[in-house]
Amino acid sequence: AKNSGRDSFQFFTAEMNTKAHERFAMQDAIRSGIARSEFYLDYQPQVDLRSGRIFAAEALVRWRHPVLGVLSPVQFISLAEETGLIVPLGDWVLNEACRQNKAWQDAGLPHLSVSVNVSALQFQEKDWPQRVRRILKESGLEAEYLELEVTESLLMRNVDQAIATMKELQELGVHFAIDDFGTGYSSLSTLKCLPVTRLKIDQSFVRNLAHDEDDRSIISAVISLGQRLNMMVIAEGVETEGQLAFLRANGCDEAQGYHFSKPVDPGAMADLLMLQG
Ligand code: C2E
Ligand code: CA
Ligand code: CA
Ligand code: CA
Repeated sequence: AKNSGRDSFQFFTAEMNTKAHERFAMQDAIRSGIARSEFYLDYQPQVDLRSGRIFAAEALVRWRHPVLGVLSPVQFISLAEETGLIVPLGDWVLNEACRQNKAWQDAGLPHLSVSVNVSALQFQEKDWPQRVRRILKESGLEAEYLELEVTESLLMRNVDQAIATMKELQELGVHFAIDDFGTGYSSLSTLKCLPVTRLKIDQSFVRNLAHDEDDRSIISAVISLGQRLNMMVIAEGVETEGQLAFLRANGCDEAQGYHFSKPVDPGAMADLLMLQG
């Protein structure tokens, strides 16, 4: 190699310094962004495939950055997780989603469940169940209209603690969904012990199902598993009529994706609800 060890070392540290600097600036920006209300939520409908009706909406966070414009969660959630800022940001998201859902209900719209994504760091906080309880109380939303989306990796970090936390929240009436199901490593014996209402089939399986027989097999296996374990199964990332037809034919309960609607602002969500009467 032409590069001496020393040169590559210098290059590496210089790059790391910039990265560290950028990260620090970004961390600061997230903190002030929360204070300045730069974050907002869009909502994506979840549809019952038997009735065709919207029964729930997933809250998805966005950041209206003063300089960079609107940022998607993939651009800031992992940094927020690494820096611990996901805790205050996640509290804000939960609070806002509950408040919005109550506002839709108070406006006379059909009652929905709102789904909120939860990070491992939030979930592991000792007082998390109390915080959820307080947020529900402050918003006036009944717990049964809140669903928390957790991932397999979050659950597998500390299974006993996860089960205890989930049970505590389940007693309040809160529901749980396992997000991105099939991409993690949860064991079936653990799955059986979890108080979970819903499995969300990851969109990576749905995307190529027309061309990939393995993806079709995985999807139908997850649907059967959900049926056996008495859980609802929802497919995410549904974009085409063909994908929907396959899901229906295999007994999938529910779906979410661009085929029905992209994530939309609260006003547009209310319009969708009004349209279906
Ligand atoms: P996710 O929970 O798996 O959310 C689904 C993502 O797929 C969303 O991206 C959604 O806009 C997108 N999507 C929905 N339907 C379709 C479709 O038909 N086709 C395609 N190609 N994509 C579709 P988004 O909003 O960019 O969110 C990305 C991820 O960021 C989410 O993945 C979730 O893991 C995370 N996230 C979003 N909001 C929050 C939050 O409030 N807290 C935490 N911790 N994570 C969040
Ligand atoms: Ca999700
Ligand atoms: Ca997902
Ligand atoms: Ca995903």
